[in-house]
Amino acid sequence: MSEVQLKNVTKSFGAMKVIPDLNLTVPDGSFTVLVGPSGCGKSTLLRIISGLEMPTGGNVLIGGQDVTLEEPSKRGISMVFQSYALYPHMTVAQNIDFGLRLAKMPTAERETRVAEAARILALEDYLDRKPGQLSGGQRQRVAIGRSIVRHPKVFLFDEPLSNLDAALRTQMRVELAQLHQSLDATMIYVTHDQVEAMTLADQIVVMNAGRIEQVGAPMELYDRPQTEFVAGFIGSPK
Ligand code: ADP
Ligand code: MG
Repeated sequence: MSEVQLKNVTKSFGAMKVIPDLNLTVPDGSFTVLVGPSGCGKSTLLRIISGLEMPTGGNVLIGGQDVTLEEPSKRGISMVFQSYALYPHMTVAQNIDFGLRLAKMPTAERETRVAEAARILALEDYLDRKPGQLSGGQRQRVAIGRSIVRHPKVFLFDEPLSNLDAALRTQMRVELAQLHQSLDATMIYVTHDQVEAMTLADQIVVMNAGRIEQVGAPMELYDRPQTEFVAGFIGSPK
């Protein structure tokens, strides 16, 4: 069970109310995509779910458990950013393994998990290379590998493909969809790319100025946008 629930979540930075009052349920095992204009609070929301940021008010529940006060490493969540932040002096295998080593996991278990991640991400032939010897798409796969080995229940992605060129984005979209299938995890994915949202999501959350405009399946939003904002953002209604 890894449903994610936000209950009356608010967030202010000083006098600025970035999230006035937000309620959202992300179903267990779903691929939920958050879209909305720059500055509307998407990254802030992910950071609140991951625990990197405390909400000003309200509650975060994962699998029915209130984790609002739980530290990030205990939430069973993993976050993938657009900047890959790989260690240039370490090999692919060492990069993927790094978090497990920090967590002092036994070597045999670490090796098993790194091998599993490499298989899922088709990185088996690259484990001894350094990040500088990889393509952009391969580097992004290594970054995802670092998440996979932790066996999180929930993956958070903050515009993970925005630094990649168009062809690679298309390829990575396919790979992310396969990843979701094979891991059977809950994914919450931020993008400002409509095509990415429409193709990856089984649920799209449209945000505007810290509020949710509409939640629904891609075609539902496309066919029956409830506000002009959603219509403008997702596609053109009749
Ligand atoms: P998005 O990811 O949708 O582009 P963000 O969540 O990054 O939006 O930001 C939402 C709003 O909150 C923006 O106005 C941003 O400037 C502000 N903000 C985000 N983080 C901070 C912070 N640490 N301190 C002050 N303001 C912040
Ligand atoms: Mg952002």
